[in-house]
Amino acid sequence: MKEISKRYNPSETEPKWLVFWEKEGIYKFSPKNKGDVFSIDTPPPTVSGKMHIGHAYSYTHEDFVARYQKMRGKNVLFPFGTDDNGLPTERLVEKLKKVRASKMKRQDFIDLCNETLKEITPDFVADWKKIGMSCDFSKIYSTIDDNCRRVSQKFFIDLYKKQKVYRQEAPVVWCPHCQTAIAQAELEDKEAETFFNDIVFKLPNKKNLVIATTRPELLSSCVAVFVHPGDKRYKKLIGQKAQVPIFQNRVEIMADKKVDMKKGSGAVMCCTFGDKTDVEWFKEYKLPLAVSLDKAGLMTEKAKKYAGLSAKDARSKIIEDLKKKNLLIGQKKIAHTLNIHERCKTEVEILNSEQWYVKVLGEKKKLIGLGEEIKWHPEFMRTRLENWIKGLNWDWCISRQRFFGIPFPVWYCAKCGEVKLADEKDLPIDPLSAKPKGKCEKCGGSKFIPERDVMDTWATSSLSPVLALQLFYKENDVEKMIPMNLRPQAHDIISTWLFYTVVRSNYHFEKIPWSEVMISGHVLDSAGRKMSKSLGNTVEPQKIIENFGADALRFWAAGRTLGQNINFSEEEIQAGKKFLTKLWNATRFVMMNINTRELNNSRIGANYKRIRANLYPTDKWILAELQELVATTTKSFEKYDYSSAKMAMEKFFWIKLADNYIEIVKNRLYDESPKNKKGRESAQYTLYSVLFTLLRLLAPFIPFATEEIYQTFFKSAKDAKSIHLCGWPEADKKLADKKKIKAGKILVEIVAAMRKHKAERGLSMKAELEKVEISCDAKTKIAIQESIDDMKAVGNIKEIKFKKGNKLAIKIS
Ligand SMILES: [Zn+2]
Ligand SMILES: [Zn+2]
Repeated sequence: MKEISKRYNPSETEPKWLVFWEKEGIYKFSPKNKGDVFSIDTPPPTVSGKMHIGHAYSYTHEDFVARYQKMRGKNVLFPFGTDDNGLPTERLVEKLKKVRASKMKRQDFIDLCNETLKEITPDFVADWKKIGMSCDFSKIYSTIDDNCRRVSQKFFIDLYKKQKVYRQEAPVVWCPHCQTAIAQAELEDKEAETFFNDIVFKLPNKKNLVIATTRPELLSSCVAVFVHPGDKRYKKLIGQKAQVPIFQNRVEIMADKKVDMKKGSGAVMCCTFGDKTDVEWFKEYKLPLAVSLDKAGLMTEKAKKYAGLSAKDARSKIIEDLKKKNLLIGQKKIAHTLNIHERCKTEVEILNSEQWYVKVLGEKKKLIGLGEEIKWHPEFMRTRLENWIKGLNWDWCISRQRFFGIPFPVWYCAKCGEVKLADEKDLPIDPLSAKPKGKCEKCGGSKFIPERDVMDTWATSSLSPVLALQLFYKENDVEKMIPMNLRPQAHDIISTWLFYTVVRSNYHFEKIPWSEVMISGHVLDSAGRKMSKSLGNTVEPQKIIENFGADALRFWAAGRTLGQNINFSEEEIQAGKKFLTKLWNATRFVMMNINTRELNNSRIGANYKRIRANLYPTDKWILAELQELVATTTKSFEKYDYSSAKMAMEKFFWIKLADNYIEIVKNRLYDESPKNKKGRESAQYTLYSVLFTLLRLLAPFIPFATEEIYQTFFKSAKDAKSIHLCGWPEADKKLADKKKIKAGKILVEIVAAMRKHKAERGLSMKAELEKVEISCDAKTKIAIQESIDDMKAVGNIKEIKFKKGNKLAIKIS
């Protein structure tokens, strides 16, 4: 046997196997490979420079599934891509290169983004390799590459032709900081304190009408006053006009049930636009547009003397002026919820502008139905999608007034405004630099204005099944591969990535994008708080890999069921490392006492049958336990319940195998005398077979360590190139034996009693015991008597006696 390292050292072994896997193409996918395809719609991470701990957590979960399916004989398509377009990349490039997109020429900034991505992507992807992802990294997509741009534009044209996308001037959620429209799904709530201001509007009879508002700076946008139709205080005023303070214009007093009579004075102003209700009233009552805020969040000419101020400054100024005129008669501090842009945390506004929308509001029922067609792991996550769809108020806005994104393949006729689409064969295209073919189909005009907006990044990543499949399939075969088998992802992007992908798949293919989804939780800090740079509680997975190895990190990540958040715990990572060390040591110890070559041959040779026919009872016990372990872990994996599988394996290894079985059979393993030939062979065979099976069960969790052990101790020339090609173990019904499991339990109890006895007396574990008396019923006696020699050997007992009794009792003297 070659020289075998005493210590298991992940920092040496892990890089070695990464190189080996890549060189041997162990995870390469081809539609022609053997087995049914199992396809995974891997989330393309947003290039942000570095993988974070939340990534490491949820991606390893996907990898457990991929590796398990591969070992089950499936032809696993586990692709990889990066999500590179849109705002996140712009922000990253601005930060890394210390530039502002808005201060640069558009094309220069786009070039800088592309260059920067080229620089940082290889290192970024390397982090995913280092955690042991079994993706086929030989082909990677980037959501901004030529093919993705082409696919994205092609499917936009498909939406347009199917009349599922439209352009409209309408109120839209707007981020004044990013200066772009954003989608409902990009909003976050923020609790804040503000003032409810009681402001006096004058009625024609000079009486006061008190309006309660949190946004007095929008007075110049006020187009109506609303009261509840059932509010007796105001019934007579409905239809009359009220004068807006400061600006002096008069607006109608209208009635609508959306007004909350109990809030403030019960009379509110409708501004275009202060909030979502304003938009609804604007549409329902065809109210005029009065824009007081521009795209940068500054007051417009409409706001007269307040023009040019920020909304915040205008608010304090107006309050001051109202006070002077005695038109502010009350102020009450309240806590309320603001909508902020998730990416920059800026409070959003609602602005009227022309945007592209994908229709979703009319499809709610259909989309909820599609959500039900998909099998969810865990099932309760499905309601998140359902609630999201039910609560939608806007169609999906996909246009962004930004720079680094996929352009719309669209021009507008300069004469009549008609949309002119690009030819599919010319894609990908940038309408800013290319010209359309032919004349305007509506008016015959030949002058066109290019669309300057770009698509939101979700408009492309929602096509991820197509992007992934296209890496390996011809374009015409892609549709046949949908639905894919599995979409794994974290729960925070159910309302975006998951929802949008369902929308697109419905429109383009009229089916669900995948048959199953699995949803991972988040990583919190050790106190259960969200990790963030400002709290200083983030953990770098790269550091953990350096200190403990990727396997230890993965073993930790396997510790929670799907959908559960996990608190980071370095102790748990250390426990994983301890497990690896023990597994290495136990295997090393056993293999040094086994003639590996002989056993390798006997796996298929004549010896195998002879040994199996003469197995010792104690050996049959651990083999029966092993069959149970194979059966339960397989069942768990089929349900994506890898954490139960991990727990069962740990328990088997620490308690049954290492602490008991190996200790019990040690003497049979050491004794090379001819009279122990059968006993030794039986123990050797059993240990070999248990370890080899356990190794394969553990391979999805700890791919590096299991590969190292396999290559060092098990692999013969005829065997599979890698542990990951060895196949998943099947439970052997002939070895499953409930009676042996029961007997084994008693055996373990007796061993524990002897250990306790010796420990309490300060005796060595090897110390001889004169007599052990076991009281038990006749059945138990038969069951455990078979292992009497093993019991004697492990406890160094001279004599074991049985006594009749109803309850198991052990007396040691
Ligand atoms: Zn923003
Ligand atoms: Zn025209």
